[in-house]
Amino acid sequence: MNTEVVSQKEMKVSPIRNGTVIDHITPGMALKVLRILGLPREGSRSVVSAIMNVPSESGRRKDIVKIEDRELEPEEVDRISLIAPNATINIIRDYEVAEKHKVALPERAEGTVACSNPNCITNARDEFGRREPVLASFRVIAKEKPVLRCDYCDRDVVNIADQIM
Ligand SMILES: [Zn+2]
Repeated sequence: MNTEVVSQKEMKVSPIRNGTVIDHITPGMALKVLRILGLPREGSRSVVSAIMNVPSESGRRKDIVKIEDRELEPEEVDRISLIAPNATINIIRDYEVAEKHKVALPERAEGTVACSNPNCITNARDEFGRREPVLASFRVIAKEKPVLRCDYCDRDVVNIADQIM
């Protein structure tokens, strides 16, 4: 690639050769996105970067996450959408944006978010402090600012970022 033709805007999102750039993340959510993805991985040499609270083209603030040598699975993208509903996923191959799409909220969320009701069966623990094997599961009932409703206790989780497991 001829670097002279790369605009400054592109430079901001594509200094990795292969991997994923998650752009337009809700400000303050970059580290939670990394936690959802289990990054950085122990023992991995791939570079992971989080850029926080940068001005976007629209004048609003945003976070950006760049992950070298990894293309996200659709299921991972669904989980990111719960805390960053405006995020854009850019798949980078050989320094070029090979695919670009906005995240889309799934209909349901399972195993990603803990119920905010401490008495919910999904938060129950046995005498050893271990979680009972009841997987938290939710229906997405609002999409603009995501709200999840627990399948077991009907409690609504409004502040999803605080409940990410
Ligand atoms: Zn619940």
